[in-house]
Amino acid sequence: MAEESFDVVIIGSGPGGYVGAIRAGQLGLATALIEKDPYQGGTCLHRGCIPTKALLENATRYRDLLRADEFGLEVGEVEVDWERIQRRKQGVVDELSRGVSGLLRKHGVEVIEGWGRIEGPRAVGVYDGRHGEKERELSAETVVIATGSVPREIGSAPFDGERILSSDHVLELDRIPESLVVIGAGAVGVEFASIYRDFGSAVTIVEALPRLLPVEDGEVAEELAKAFGKKGIDVRTDTRLESAEPTGEGVAITLSGEGAGEIEAEVVLVAIGREPVSEGIGLESVRVEIEDGYVQVDEWCETGEPGVYAIGDVNPTPWLAHVASMEGVMVVERIAGEEVHPVPYDETPNCTYCDPEVASVGLTERRARERGYQVRTGTFPFLASGRAKIGGHTDGFVKIVAEDTYDEVLGVHIVGYKATELIAEAGAVLRLGGTVEELIHTIHAHPTLAESVHEAAHAVYGEALHYG
Ligand code: FAD
Repeated sequence: MAEESFDVVIIGSGPGGYVGAIRAGQLGLATALIEKDPYQGGTCLHRGCIPTKALLENATRYRDLLRADEFGLEVGEVEVDWERIQRRKQGVVDELSRGVSGLLRKHGVEVIEGWGRIEGPRAVGVYDGRHGEKERELSAETVVIATGSVPREIGSAPFDGERILSSDHVLELDRIPESLVVIGAGAVGVEFASIYRDFGSAVTIVEALPRLLPVEDGEVAEELAKAFGKKGIDVRTDTRLESAEPTGEGVAITLSGEGAGEIEAEVVLVAIGREPVSEGIGLESVRVEIEDGYVQVDEWCETGEPGVYAIGDVNPTPWLAHVASMEGVMVVERIAGEEVHPVPYDETPNCTYCDPEVASVGLTERRARERGYQVRTGTFPFLASGRAKIGGHTDGFVKIVAEDTYDEVLGVHIVGYKATELIAEAGAVLRLGGTVEELIHTIHAHPTLAESVHEAAHAVYGEALHYG
């Protein structure tokens, strides 16, 4: 078999791999991108970010229509056509997927369908499936592992695809279930709880830790729990799943802890996290360290084997599409000889697109105190925002965590309508090492939701203009 030579071979075409490949193409590197699926885009485009947000958009429109009367609009009875909702979601995914393929072509990336396996420091084989025959032999100065992650299973509730579902399965449901129990209240769990509750399912969400979205600021999580309660979601924190037994009609669930009890549900979604794909890809043939399945890397995403990198969900950095993409770009720019900086993980925005949305960047109040900062905080509720009132979305608030001596903004935490858009400004403030005073002196247009960020900055000094 003749060996084909490239500058870079990337295994996996998620937002880490495909974005890295496009950038490598732009930089003139001969690039091969191996993907086992017949399409590119990975979890994010096909089973994650994009399809979930498409369904959440439907839920938002539906909620708005149900409130039409408040706005003096007569819309008659609103009906949900789940099949068309699913079709629209797939249409969005397919269109974006064609776009990704087109971009890869345009930038001269050779996309190879097959299972990629490392066979030595500079050698990669392409196989016809994980257990299939070898089809091609590639060599490259740089190999990038971008194989991503898959849903994590638990012994007490193994996926069966019918009653006990992963996020992949629940995206493809052909009906709105009468009842749904979600195990795990991270971003994926709360997003699906929100979607299906909005479409009428009876939803229970179970979390072993004391609150929803455990990585977010405590006050934000409390506000979300309140909003979920108002929606009619049964929130059970400090609660563990003991067992989930499929019955003919649904699943019998036993819970222990604070929310102990027996519940029956049509389906269960297990959303307790993801597992990196680091097996079956030949890592034993190189000097790569693996811990809990994650490929260990340095600040440049390089593994213990020089020239072999790991980006995205397969390494231990945050499981987010934008982190994967930033890492992909950084790696290929570095090998192309550009001046690069390590990815600033502390400035990564975290967004959860449930209703109400949650978004944050930087340190929570607790984390900031743990790191020894003298902390000041300022909070502004959307209830006091003109724009929020106009839109009828007054739940939630903006909270700023700042450092006392130098006035630096350490973190911004938002729960409420469009939080995931509003957080971009906060990301820029953190990147620039901005202060509360600078935020106060930044003119914010009126009337906008973004004024609430401005007001929260004033509130750090107890001087919010429209509240308190
Ligand atoms: P992946 O996207 O997982 O891609 C890996 C690719 O590698 C896949 O295409 C896979 O087929 C391929 N592959 C694996 N092994 C091989 C092999 N040996 N050979 C060839 N190909 C292989 N993140 C956000 O930032 N925002 C969100 O809103 C968001 N929502 C999400 C919602 C859900 C339901 C889920 C599950 C995840 C969500 N995420 C979100 C997380 C996001 O999807 C991941 O962080 C992101 O996809 C990771 O990118 P990646 O490139 O590392 O891997």
